[in-house]
Amino acid sequence: MHCPFCQHVDTRVIDSRVSEDGATIRRRRECEACGERFSTLETIELKLPMIIKGDGRREQFDARKLRLSLDRALHKRPVSEEQVEATVRAVVHQLRMTAERELPSRYLAQLAADPAATAFWEVATPSYRKLAVSWVVTAKQEKTRDARMAQLVDDCAAGRMISSQRYGVEPKWVQRAAAAAEAARLG
Ligand SMILES: [Zn+2]
Repeated sequence: MHCPFCQHVDTRVIDSRVSEDGATIRRRRECEACGERFSTLETIELKLPMIIKGDGRREQFDARKLRLSLDRALHKRPVSEEQVEATVRAVVHQLRMTAERELPSRYLAQLAADPAATAFWEVATPSYRKLAVSWVVTAKQEKTRDARMAQLVDDCAAGRMISSQRYGVEPKWVQRAAAAAEAARLG
């Protein structure tokens, strides 16, 4: 990296520190030519998909907004700050994994709210996830999409694929995913 003071082409890293949440790295650098020191901040660039709102508008996923709406929805319920945080993290995780497909945010929250379903979903192969998401979001009526999403969450929690995929020889990952769901259910 260039020195911002003298434009020398090379600087030396003298210290690296990872932030508490592991999302950023701060590096202390020193210019070999002029001896000036400066810091750089390295963050992970996330490619998250657009979110389709209830009224059909699209917007960039915003973890802060999700946290706010969860806080609002849950403020009278016995849910800890940590559980809200864990849910937000789970949603971000799933968003990254389903980045090829757009899923309404409330559907993601629905999946994240069920630990067994989440465990199954995380082990499921990308191609199955893509297929299942597309089965949900391609239904013409919202009513049907909602019902399919509820069915998908139920199937994941029960450790099985959606019914259209339950034929012939079961792929090997299903057993592993079902075991993960079972373990999550037992806590
Ligand atoms: Zn310099």
